[in-house]
Amino acid sequence: MATKPEQLEADYVIIGAGAMGMAFADELLSVSDATMIIIDRRHRPGGHWNDGYPFLRLHGATSLYGVNSRSLGEGEVDRVGLNAGLEPLPSSVELCAYYDEVMRHRLLPSGRVTFLPLCDYHEDGRVTSRFGGDEVRVKARKAVVDATYTNTKLPSTHPPNFDVVPEATCISPNALPHLDGRGKSFTVIGAGKTAMDSVTWLLEHDVVPERIRWIRPRDSWMVDRNARQFRPDAAGETMNCVAGELECAAKARDFDDLFDRLEQDGALMRIDRQVRPTMYRCATLSHAELETLRQVTDVVRLGHVTRIGPDEIELQHGTIPTGPDQVHVNCTASGLSDKPPRPVFEDGRITLQMVRTCQPCFSGAITARTETLFDDTETKNDCLAPVPPPYEDKDWARILVINSANQLRWTKTPQLAEWMAQSRLDGTSGIAPPSDAVAAQMAKARDRFKENIRPALANLQRLLADTETAQTPMAMND
Ligand SMILES: Cc1cc2nc3c(=O)[nH]c(=O)nc-3n(C[C@H](O)[C@H](O)[C@H](O)COP(=O)(O)OP(=O)(O)OC[C@H]3O[C@@H](n4cnc5c(N)ncnc54)[C@H](O)[C@@H]3O)c2cc1C
Repeated sequence: MATKPEQLEADYVIIGAGAMGMAFADELLSVSDATMIIIDRRHRPGGHWNDGYPFLRLHGATSLYGVNSRSLGEGEVDRVGLNAGLEPLPSSVELCAYYDEVMRHRLLPSGRVTFLPLCDYHEDGRVTSRFGGDEVRVKARKAVVDATYTNTKLPSTHPPNFDVVPEATCISPNALPHLDGRGKSFTVIGAGKTAMDSVTWLLEHDVVPERIRWIRPRDSWMVDRNARQFRPDAAGETMNCVAGELECAAKARDFDDLFDRLEQDGALMRIDRQVRPTMYRCATLSHAELETLRQVTDVVRLGHVTRIGPDEIELQHGTIPTGPDQVHVNCTASGLSDKPPRPVFEDGRITLQMVRTCQPCFSGAITARTETLFDDTETKNDCLAPVPPPYEDKDWARILVINSANQLRWTKTPQLAEWMAQSRLDGTSGIAPPSDAVAAQMAKARDRFKENIRPALANLQRLLADTETAQTPMAMND
């Protein structure tokens, strides 16, 4: 940074070149003539995907990920493996390459974007280089865009929040492929998607289920990836699944009945049919992945680990034996934000948050579109209520209510409805049915959706009001 001026100025200063910052910048480039400075402390765009374990892949819908102007993947389906027959899931390496390409071939050549990698942004507007040590000031003529609010954490960057004695082997999933696993047994710690990935990886690499012990403080509801495919030929079934969720929500007598219905309808899944999950974090699995995970039957449900000693693991509600042959795989970092929701638009500041459930890229892009459509902060915030990340099972209902209210507002705002109709990030709305049969399925699903949306929202609000736990969800480690 030695040759840079002391102050850099642009319409928008975007902090963070992860999925949300990149989606915002890409859309802003398309729909305005704004200039931007993008700052990231990492060496290239892609955010947390840069720190992923080698077997980390996207688990949500690939066709709804990335920036609006460039699709991700070739639209084929996987032919082999546990995701066979479904949309391919890019690895973290592929995701970083994609974002690098977007930066180098779209954002930078526009001449309207300056990228400052390996730089820390400070709240007072200072930017310091992580290598040169030089400092510049950045000034936003319109807004500073905080694209760091999802506050992602991975085990490779966030050490465990329990004690580990030096004699015990406790590794992050990043270290698994580098290990000599012969003669070892594995204790996987955590109930989230990272733990699921680690267990699957071990099973796929010749570790028999009997050598795997899984510490799951909570069990989780998972989204069925087979029912959420955004290819044109699958659009009818996917829309029917969404409409089916609303029908379950409209008819549910209580929360147990709601989740029973969602499971029977094929919207949500659980690993152990004997245990009622209390957690929901948008983790998405294929049927084959679910069956694979079910092979591990040594599941420890004694709460969170508090200490790994030389011959015992201490947990909140008990202890279990361990020893030198055990490899403890720490999968406890929380991938979703633990920060409270705040208004997306404030004077001179935009805080990127999910405004559609677990859809960071759509959320970043629609925030940019909304920013360019309206002048006053109140109107903009009326369009985009933050949807908090889910933590517990009942959050499935809480976020559906907020999400649906946003959706209704967007469909009633002609400029946003028009934008969604042509946005590749907006689920099925831009999909042209490839056959009469799919067109008929889609029309039927639309009718089912319309019939159930209002009764579903009313019923969920009733259920939430009835439950004494109706409070702001608090994120914790999985
Ligand atoms: C393991 C994992 C798997 C996931 N899988 C999926 C999935 O399949 N589908 C899905 O939709 N979502 C998934 N998510 C959710 C995830 O939150 C989003 O997909 C998305 O990648 C988050 O992007 P982001 O830009 O908000 O955050 P990040 O990727 O964390 O990017 C924020 C960036 O800001 C930078 N930064 C922070 N502070 C500063 C500062 N002061 N100065 C300079 N730079 C700063 C960081 O270096 C970082 O690059 C996953 C999350 C995790 C952790």
